[in-house]
Amino acid sequence: MLFVTDLTGYMYCSRKLYFSKVLHVREKPQEQSIKGTIKHAVFEHSGREDKDIIFAFTEKDTLEILEMKYRKVYYSVLMFQIQRAKKDLEAQGLKTLEIYQELWPFFLAEAKTKSLYFYNLAEEKKVYGEKLWLALPKSIPELRIVSEKLQLVGVIDRVDLVDGFIPVEIKTGSAPRDGVWKEHMIQIGAYILLLSEHYGKDISEGYVEYRAINERRKIVMNPFLKDEILELIQKVRNTLNRKELPAKTNDIKKCEKCGIRDICFSQV
Ligand code: SF4
Repeated sequence: MLFVTDLTGYMYCSRKLYFSKVLHVREKPQEQSIKGTIKHAVFEHSGREDKDIIFAFTEKDTLEILEMKYRKVYYSVLMFQIQRAKKDLEAQGLKTLEIYQELWPFFLAEAKTKSLYFYNLAEEKKVYGEKLWLALPKSIPELRIVSEKLQLVGVIDRVDLVDGFIPVEIKTGSAPRDGVWKEHMIQIGAYILLLSEHYGKDISEGYVEYRAINERRKIVMNPFLKDEILELIQKVRNTLNRKELPAKTNDIKKCEKCGIRDICFSQV
């Protein structure tokens, strides 16, 4: 079975994927990936508090009270996740305090955005507490789908249940000026294929949420994207079944920040 992330890993560097999947060479977490993992974990774990916060939200509560509750949640989850990553951070020469100072403004802004969204919704619909919770658009977090037909596994950040199933991938890194990065298009496209097969429904779109700029960008499935993904699955499978290492990437910038560069460059 391949994972959807193997497809994007292949697009990044097929040789690196081969080292990881076939030769079981693990890369030490790099600075950007540690920060990305912390951010992702904070989103995931703090999202689990939504229900309790919304249930406790009454007509008398102000926007400031709601925002303060979200600040507290983000603060405690962020501190926990930074402590959890302490070893990896220190291995990269990074201090936990510096990481906190870098990431905290991001989550302060997130607390503001989230509380404003729930507050405005409550004001608009005039519902609070449990009724507000029930009025929210429903979604399934961290949905794992396995396709025997495609021999592919995907873990989708979130599936929004709005007139069907809409896969949503949360990205904490930079966003392109327009549209989405190619890897993200392939990832969402693959999730659309998995969801369509699993639920037996036509699903035509998905989204990437770029949290750094607070934008949600749409990806529409089409026959070309579908063919591209199916071809890519085959290419990845062929590469991983080969006996020899794939060639190095031509993008030297990727090698400069690669955690297995020494091992890679010592091989032909
Ligand atoms: S050093 Fe470069 S070619 Fe080698 S695995 Fe890393 S990114 Fe790929």
